[in-house]
Amino acid sequence: MDFLSANSLPWLREAQQRLQAAQQSGHLPHSLLVLSAPGLGAEPLARWITALALCESQDARPCDACASCRLLRSDSHPDVHIVRLEEDAQQIKIDQIRELIDALATKSYRGGYKVGVIEGAEALNANGANAFLKTLEEPAANTVLIMIARPNHRLPVTIASRCLRLKLEPPPTKDALAWLKANSSAAKSWDAALALAGGAPLLAVHLDADGLAEIDADMRQCLLELAEGAVDVTLLAERWNRSHPDIRIAWLENWITQRVRSSLGAATSHQSAEPVRLPAALLKPKIRALFELLDAARDVRRFASTGMNQQLALEALLIGGRTALGK
Ligand SMILES: [Zn+2]
Repeated sequence: MDFLSANSLPWLREAQQRLQAAQQSGHLPHSLLVLSAPGLGAEPLARWITALALCESQDARPCDACASCRLLRSDSHPDVHIVRLEEDAQQIKIDQIRELIDALATKSYRGGYKVGVIEGAEALNANGANAFLKTLEEPAANTVLIMIARPNHRLPVTIASRCLRLKLEPPPTKDALAWLKANSSAAKSWDAALALAGGAPLLAVHLDADGLAEIDADMRQCLLELAEGAVDVTLLAERWNRSHPDIRIAWLENWITQRVRSSLGAATSHQSAEPVRLPAALLKPKIRALFELLDAARDVRRFASTGMNQQLALEALLIGGRTALGK
């Protein structure tokens, strides 16, 4: 577990400083909800917070030298419990949550903190969330629980309201570009990848890995055909599903966001993937259709990791797209 990698992501610094100050004054929060779009480093941040809680140094934490830090490095710290979606699963299983609850209720092995992490907490189902509620309401002493979820999660309010929220935002574009340049060997332009990633630098790195320009051209062509109604949505959904569906959805979200912004007369920006929400009545019908399409695209992305009806979800999205884009 490389808990120091968060230190190389400068946009996390403010959150780190806040937590470090809380730890030093003995007020490390019991439960944290880290809200983050993909590619902003929520997982490295959670590892760093874990180390902050467990480090046994009296000086600056995490020290990377004490017995706890060494156990973390070798992924063998007995007081760390991580839950995430199992491969091919659609939801986090209730048994996983029960195991976590039991683990947090037992005594700490090393006499310090116990840390529980739930990655992708939006995949908690109602039963899992309910089972977890008591743990949140009556936290055992010296426990830290870190939940990571997308900003558009649908976790019950009873869960979310009991956590300290930490919302990660993309860094300003110029900072993100500077970071990408400094952290890549090849001298190249990162603008397109960063725009597609909604400003999230780590996602930009991931997207850049293959064929971004080709996908970009293909997506423009797809939308053109969709707007003209000259397309079989079932076949198109199949094709998207086979080839980089996650990148296509991100591309589409980014494209719609730009559209909405320019329709509203706002300066276009690659910066935010989360447009301001306006009451439906204030929107021109076209813009409303775009917002609906954006919501649909986000739903597809939300379920993408679960493999849940991806084909059907894409078809529904494309049918919505045909309506929103058609003349
Ligand atoms: Zn340490």
